[in-house]
Amino acid sequence: MAAMSALPDLWTHKPRSVLTFRPGTRVADIDTNATPGFSGEKSDAPDLQAERNGVFAALQEQLYACGKTGTDSRSVLLVLQGMDTAGKGGIVEHVVGAGNPMGIRYTSFGVPTAEERAHHYLWRIRNALPGPGKIGVFDRSHYEDVLVVRVHELVPPDVWGARYDEINAFEKELTDAGTAIVKVAMFVSLDEQKRRLAERLERPDKYWKYNPGDLDERALWPAYQDAYQTVLDRTSTEYAPWHVVPCDRKWYARLAVTELLIEALHGMQLSWPPADFDVEAEKKRLASA
Ligand code: ADP
Repeated sequence: MAAMSALPDLWTHKPRSVLTFRPGTRVADIDTNATPGFSGEKSDAPDLQAERNGVFAALQEQLYACGKTGTDSRSVLLVLQGMDTAGKGGIVEHVVGAGNPMGIRYTSFGVPTAEERAHHYLWRIRNALPGPGKIGVFDRSHYEDVLVVRVHELVPPDVWGARYDEINAFEKELTDAGTAIVKVAMFVSLDEQKRRLAERLERPDKYWKYNPGDLDERALWPAYQDAYQTVLDRTSTEYAPWHVVPCDRKWYARLAVTELLIEALHGMQLSWPPADFDVEAEKKRLASA
């Protein structure tokens, strides 16, 4: 298992080390077209992605087996945040989708429902957390409550302003309880976003992904940049750091997030649950069954 999980040669640096947010990094300066730590090309991606999907799936199965048998109650939470078209759905489909759905808990967070609005903003988040052995996937997350909510002034500044510390405390509680949090901030350039939105308008099979409101959010990009900057500055912690993933090249973003998940799972040093029965005795029983 350890050899299988080793970083492929095409990576010159561990994605975790090159992508972890460093204090001082400016969102406005992120090169969204870059492929940090990766020396390969787009043409290397399909084979490598398939191979690494297999590594991820094997580790996920081990995590699931531990949870299922009660030998280990830990879990993983993948938090995907990014502007429209950044590729969150592609990560879910092409990366997480390689795993066994039984062990995945996927939740997308849209505009809060009336019931959700009646509760604290972390209520719906807590309700969606992964149980033992599961990988939770948040397609948007509690960070919307300091992103869209801040940009659109849905609550007063003192209210959203208090949320950064609250989110840090919440994530500390989760990690202390055994959830490894992998936070991924996905950045796409305005040009690339325009190209992806245009494609959605050109192709009938993509209309369903187009939302006229996306153009209104696009116009607010400077305000979103400021909001993302504060998220990274205030909520990238030792126990739940942000990873800044350039997403103009989808193939790179997918490879990178796959490695982040593999690294997180590998770091948990999982082992297969031992048999809770006498293996030899069962073999004998089976032979004569
Ligand atoms: P997507 O656009 O990701 O495909 P949806 O159509 O379900 O998904 O809607 C997501 C929308 O919900 C986004 O515009 C997002 O900003 C908004 N949203 C998510 N969380 C909140 C929140 N807490 N408050 C207000 N709007 C939110």
